[in-house]
Amino acid sequence: MLAALPIAHAAAGYLVLRTACRGSTCRASLGDDQPAAAWRLIALFMLIGNLPDFDFLIGFVAGRPGLVHRGVSHTIGAAVAFGVFAGGVARSRWRAPFLPAALAFAAAYGSHLLLDWLTVDSRPPEGGQFLWPFSDAYYIAPIRIFGEIHVDGVTRTGFLGSVLAWPTVVALGREAALTVGAVLLWKVVAVGRGHRRETGAEDVH
Ligand SMILES: [Zn+2]
Repeated sequence: MLAALPIAHAAAGYLVLRTACRGSTCRASLGDDQPAAAWRLIALFMLIGNLPDFDFLIGFVAGRPGLVHRGVSHTIGAAVAFGVFAGGVARSRWRAPFLPAALAFAAAYGSHLLLDWLTVDSRPPEGGQFLWPFSDAYYIAPIRIFGEIHVDGVTRTGFLGSVLAWPTVVALGREAALTVGAVLLWKVVAVGRGHRRETGAEDVH
């Protein structure tokens, strides 16, 4: 059974937040003046990036961890449903505008599907039914950049043993390296953009 890539999923959730957070209220909550609020928001999006894999928890409680893994939780339908629900919560609790919030939450959830699509899956059927309910077909990227972690989805003890096993540590190390590389690249692009803006401002003077 294929398992999670928690570091990459968390990073993807974070990148969605940084990309989506453009409104002044959102920017202010990510600013240096409210570090606690910023960290809460960042932690929330990192968690949402991993949310689909919490289906392991449902199976774990039921006594078979892999019972519903990569089922409906790993579909575009679930991403949209989650976006609508979380957007509604954000509007009523934080008075956030519904549509941008719903889109950001759906994108953070959907980033999980994108990364799983890019993950090696050596056991058939490869990939996942990511486009359900529009298609029942299994999809996997032609080039997979993330290694897979084999998890025993049959028993609870097997599950815990496989999560803590050496190959899992190796896969996580590879994933951490890829993630750091991606975040650094994103930073370089962001700094470059900022620099261009500054240069543009000088031209006006
Ligand atoms: Zn997953």
